[in-house]
Amino acid sequence: MIRFYKTPWIIRQIAPGLLWQVPGAKDEIYLTFDDGPVPGLTEYVLELLKSHDAEATFFCVGDNIARYPAIFEKIIDRGHAAGNHTYNHLRGWKTGKMSYLENIRKCDSEIAGHLPAGRMPLFRPPHGQITISQIRSLKKTHRIVMWDVLTYDFDAGAHPAESLEKIIKCSCPGSVVVFHDNYKAEANLQYMLPRYLDHFSKRGYRFKKLELA
Ligand SMILES: [Zn+2]
Repeated sequence: MIRFYKTPWIIRQIAPGLLWQVPGAKDEIYLTFDDGPVPGLTEYVLELLKSHDAEATFFCVGDNIARYPAIFEKIIDRGHAAGNHTYNHLRGWKTGKMSYLENIRKCDSEIAGHLPAGRMPLFRPPHGQITISQIRSLKKTHRIVMWDVLTYDFDAGAHPAESLEKIIKCSCPGSVVVFHDNYKAEANLQYMLPRYLDHFSKRGYRFKKLELA
């Protein structure tokens, strides 16, 4: 199986208007955590970020926010950004446009109270699956965020030491890096994240959250 730790250039050209990397960044990396909040693991990530004075962006599943509102509050209180990852972690390619947008709106209403007024929420499509027509509708109301570095922390067949080496090589100023605060990814995340933070902190990088449009 081929793993694309770095999103191929050609893929990034297909759909204009999506954010793959932050342009103009100097020594900044943008960590993102998908699928939470969940007890234990999200809090582990928050502690680790705090110890590195790092900011990040959490793409949360609405249903998890409803179940664990206190953990979601903690993400916000710590000064991180929160984005929409649909209410039920839907696959865009398998979901009709209306139900997809409806599910995203349901997640919006979970996070709405936590966003500064008048700003566009961030959105990341689960599994990276989104159709051109869904993009067209959604980009009027959301800033759609993809990534240029994928950690494969969710992949039980990936060796975390090897993945770590790959993602370090693939990262550059402005990189948007995907981790998962999702139990399936826990072991790999716990191996990679502290080492990744150490590696780039020592080299003078700062970890920033994504800004709302
Ligand atoms: Zn996801």
